[in-house]
Amino acid sequence: MTRLDQLGEFGLIDLLTKNVSGNSSVLVGIGDDCAVVQEGKKQHLFTCDAFIENIHFRRAWASPEDIGRKAAAAALSDIAAMGGIARYMLVTLACARDTDVTYLERIYTGLKAGSEEGRVALIGGDTTASCEGIMISVTVIGKALDNPVLRSGARPGDVVAVTGYPGCAALGLHALEQGDGSAPEALLHAHLRPRPKLMEGKFLGNGEVNAMIDLSDGLVQDLGHIAVRSNVSIDIETEKLPFTPEQCAYAEKSGVSALQAALCGGEDYELAFTVPPRQVATLLAEFKLQFHLPVTVIGAVTEGPARVTVDGLPCHHTGYNHFQTAK
Ligand code: ADP
Ligand code: MG
Repeated sequence: MTRLDQLGEFGLIDLLTKNVSGNSSVLVGIGDDCAVVQEGKKQHLFTCDAFIENIHFRRAWASPEDIGRKAAAAALSDIAAMGGIARYMLVTLACARDTDVTYLERIYTGLKAGSEEGRVALIGGDTTASCEGIMISVTVIGKALDNPVLRSGARPGDVVAVTGYPGCAALGLHALEQGDGSAPEALLHAHLRPRPKLMEGKFLGNGEVNAMIDLSDGLVQDLGHIAVRSNVSIDIETEKLPFTPEQCAYAEKSGVSALQAALCGGEDYELAFTVPPRQVATLLAEFKLQFHLPVTVIGAVTEGPARVTVDGLPCHHTGYNHFQTAK
């Protein structure tokens, strides 16, 4: 018997989805942030994300409004990663029979706020009982612009860049786990109220970006998906990684490594992308003019085995993986 915790999340997806049936309209199936489907002249994007109580959220730490909003944000973030426009949302809700209805209404207040922020219409879903706890699964359907940005487009010579400050959400989660109410608000906010980078993704998708992914499982793991799909090596230069004063202060106080959080922490929902060196200066300058969000070059793409290195060395720590316990 192979146990699930030996196989891991991505091994399981590969195993289960071997020989799935597609059809000629599926341009991109399993393996990217969204599936891309051609219907006539239009390309549609499809993605879904599940949010499970005590796996993705805890009632003790997050308000129901934040839980609903984050469930929407996580799914919308995959549309951002393709440089697309989000259009429609469907929500499946599972909850135990004794759940307080007001609590569910408040989750929906957050979901509705998230869908309004993403400018999507909430058009349906499903509701069912669970044995225990709440599950929210959000499906988003979007529209691709001219060419969706895939994980498979990175080319040797490209520069790797990232928006925002990766690692903030993981430090915020650490503070919540420790019950540290004095942790910087910006870190708690990063974990509890992430914003999908839809406008930024659309802007980058219109530019000369070759590959893009959203950061849901940590820089090393998520850039690893680009490396595998593009068959390239990606090196992250740690001295280039951006950190806020809050990240540095909390790391010093708590003894948690801000670098480790940036490399391996999940749920930042920032965008990481690769761009040819000739275009990078113009693209980043225009980005900075348009958005109040930093964008930083953090590494480079080279030919070579499909892997991510950190300062030229193999990285043994990966990011979040359902079914595998933290090492
Ligand atoms: P993301 O982190 O961007 O949401 P995931 O890592 O969850 O993406 O999923 C990776 C890829 O595998 C995606 O293309 C997703 O659609 C696909 N996938 C995940 N789980 C399943 C499943 N149970 N059946 C089919 N495809 C799946
Ligand atoms: Mg994604």
